[in-house]
Amino acid sequence: MTDEARAGRFFSRRFGGTCVGSAERISGVCDLLMKNDSPLTMGIVSAMGVANKGEPKVTDCLINATDMAANRDGSYVEELTKLEDKHVSTAKALLTDKAEYDAYIEVFRNELNDLRAMFKAIYIAGCSTDAFGDFVVGHGELWTARLCAATIRCKGGKAVWIDARDILVVTPSEDGGVDVNYNLSNAKLDKWYEEHMQEGAVVMVTGFIARTPEGVPTTLKRNGSDYSATIFGALTQARNITIWTDVDGVFSADPRRVKGARCLSSISYNEAWELAYFGANVLHPRTTLPAMKYNIPLTLRNYFNQDAPGTSIGMTCSLPAGENNIGKFETRDSNGDLVKGIATIDDVCLINVEGTGMVGVPGTANAVFKAVKEAGCNVVMISQASSEHSICFAVRAHEADAAVNALNKTFEKAIAAGRISRIHALDDCSILAIVGQNMCQTPGVSAMLFESLAQAAVNIIAIAQGASEYNVTVVVSKKDINKALQSAHGRFYLSKTAISVGLVGPGLVGKTLLRQMKEQLETLQEEFQVELRTVAITGGRKMLLSDETIDLDTWEEEYANGGAANMEEFTQHVLNSEAPNRIIVDCSASDEVASHYKEWLSKGLHVVTPNKKANSGPLAFYKELRSIQRNSYTHYFYEATVGAGLPILSTARCLLDAGDKIKRIEGIFSGTLSYIFNTLEPGVAFSDIVAQAKEAGYTEPDPRDDLSGMDVARKVTILARECGLQLELSDVPIQSLVPEPLRDVESVDEFMKELPKYDGDILKQQEAAAAAGEVLCFVGVVDVEAGTGCVELRRYPEDHPFAQLKGSDNIISFTSRYYTDAGPLVVRGPGAGAEVTAGGVFGDILRVCAYLGAPS
Ligand code: ADP
Ligand code: ASP
Ligand code: MG
Repeated sequence: MTDEARAGRFFSRRFGGTCVGSAERISGVCDLLMKNDSPLTMGIVSAMGVANKGEPKVTDCLINATDMAANRDGSYVEELTKLEDKHVSTAKALLTDKAEYDAYIEVFRNELNDLRAMFKAIYIAGCSTDAFGDFVVGHGELWTARLCAATIRCKGGKAVWIDARDILVVTPSEDGGVDVNYNLSNAKLDKWYEEHMQEGAVVMVTGFIARTPEGVPTTLKRNGSDYSATIFGALTQARNITIWTDVDGVFSADPRRVKGARCLSSISYNEAWELAYFGANVLHPRTTLPAMKYNIPLTLRNYFNQDAPGTSIGMTCSLPAGENNIGKFETRDSNGDLVKGIATIDDVCLINVEGTGMVGVPGTANAVFKAVKEAGCNVVMISQASSEHSICFAVRAHEADAAVNALNKTFEKAIAAGRISRIHALDDCSILAIVGQNMCQTPGVSAMLFESLAQAAVNIIAIAQGASEYNVTVVVSKKDINKALQSAHGRFYLSKTAISVGLVGPGLVGKTLLRQMKEQLETLQEEFQVELRTVAITGGRKMLLSDETIDLDTWEEEYANGGAANMEEFTQHVLNSEAPNRIIVDCSASDEVASHYKEWLSKGLHVVTPNKKANSGPLAFYKELRSIQRNSYTHYFYEATVGAGLPILSTARCLLDAGDKIKRIEGIFSGTLSYIFNTLEPGVAFSDIVAQAKEAGYTEPDPRDDLSGMDVARKVTILARECGLQLELSDVPIQSLVPEPLRDVESVDEFMKELPKYDGDILKQQEAAAAAGEVLCFVGVVDVEAGTGCVELRRYPEDHPFAQLKGSDNIISFTSRYYTDAGPLVVRGPGAGAEVTAGGVFGDILRVCAYLGAPS
């Protein structure tokens, strides 16, 4: 091949497995290659992939068959039959020329028969070798390359094909991959070109396969056809290289795993390399290297969406091409994102070599990595503390045993002498890497990553950042990797305080909250960059889960048509949502829902609620809840559990945090009882007022729920705990206003009918109070100094603030070191009702946002 033929005349086009997964697709690939505008086109193809679910992927089939035969499992025969059926039926559909069909099938059958014989031998021997495996697994590419060439000819075009093993010479490299021997490969290509090239023919090439200098067939390792395309691009010095695959381009994260992943319009060679190296399997890790060699523009395109422009991969700062510039050119891309992409390697093992004998001893690291290399393991990431007390590194999970064995052997003496204390393998780990050359010299990027992981309650096991600053890599537990990926992606690609909201209990308060949120969404976004995205709503029976933000104008309709409620699915959905922060808002009054808080908080979900059940439930539960919350860096706010929207708990917190000492909190905490006693006057029967209140909807459906004082006792318990008292609800004596004999009466009507009989009790107390110039109030009291709480009917002088109360207002007074009896701090206002309660909950949600860094 002449220099003239090279020098930018070739276009290199690679088609992945799915693009050649069926006859129809292969036909489309051939059309694309034939209508090419270039004088010389090279089509590099993978083995047939999957076009319809359930079909075999050819490379997988060949690998499976080898493994089966080596394990003396006779079902390898069926794998071969699947391959035969797939190729014969495809050839039948494509090769309309009988001679082409016959020729193709003859060679195919011969090869398949050879494979059968070889598998039989493996089956008998019960073992296989790497070299043998490499030879077998490359057949898929042979079969497609030949099939494509024959198809082009059947379509009236000109085509030749290359078995890449006749051209490509590669040697194994220390990282488990292969290096290309360009001199030998170029010479072979020149020879091939002289002998076989036909003017104007499309050159079909097998991806994936090559040969060693000794002539042994080998592969470029899984996913290697991308690499083949850029190697052939470099060999021919192609004008451009297109990688056709099944996605619109390189995404900011694997689009199968991150719903909001973005297609990147351009990235640099280095970024593509880092992303691929750290697990973005859209490209083979080495794909970009040959393209960089000659600065050949590389484009990733979607075969199934050919209108999409794809991702272009190149140098972001143009520097002259050439060997000397490799790795030197790209610095910053001033227009680009800070982090271009996030990739993961799911199965790794973290190996830790520890011992005091390593400190200051030169050569320990060398000995460690030499041993690992000799065991044939590839080190994915290294991290060493500057104390030199330990070296920790990650290898792929399947290489872990070999690495540990090699280390134990190498350091046998050092271990016996105690210089190395242990070699420890931590299984079930995953790697997450954020990649972007703009991270270079930008402070704060790792902080953003770590913050996002902390918020998702993901523990970081190890950290590494290369000096190139193109990536920051963390090792996390495998069970956390999806959560970590979602969270980190949301942190870099959504606004800083994007928050997913999952709402439990869309009753009166819940509904009102959603309306209030709707009204504020725009202002919050514009003024505070807070983006509230409601993604899930669940009631006791129905549930609405949405990948998109639920439209708060129309949610009721969608919710009415929602599926069956399921708390596990609800939780998982909120967890999987892409925003970096997630809140569950519990607007139910349910014990059962409250029992999930611990789980939610430990999973990194913030919790906001007006539900009193958790905080007034068993003390041990409450304490555990708080400790989980502190340790998981989540927020748990419940202002509306006491006094609805009134700032009661936050006032207590403010006083305590500023060093004040609260002595007593005393107040009228029940809107219902407030109304009843504010309306009570001489000559009006207690039971009449209860009936009126019931009528007006101020009471619970069964007024005994209010009159029993239980609700007030719960509030007292919550406040007492806030002040540091270790109080159980049962420690709070309650003076119930339900007459003893009526407590067990079944029906509400019956109760209301009987109540007037007991009007005398309250009347007597009221008259006694009035005679002393006092009024009756139903209060809750937290006596911090005595360590007690109580709920009872008390008398207050007529000029006391409690005696001045109107309607159903609440009033709460705090007596403290700074706010003495002479001038207590008093909070007063409506303490019940959907609007004010929802307002209190909304306030808590915004408090979470503020804690998460929304600007004030
Ligand atoms: P091909 O057979 O064409 O080589 P692959 O399945 O090997 O295709 O690679 C394409 C797949 O890579 C996509 O379908 C996608 O799920 C996955 N992938 C992983 N990470 C990324 C990413 N960052 N951007 C795009 N695709 C990705
Ligand atoms: N067929 C090979 C594999 O599945 C190479 C490729 O498709 O890129 O790994
Ligand atoms: Mg691939």
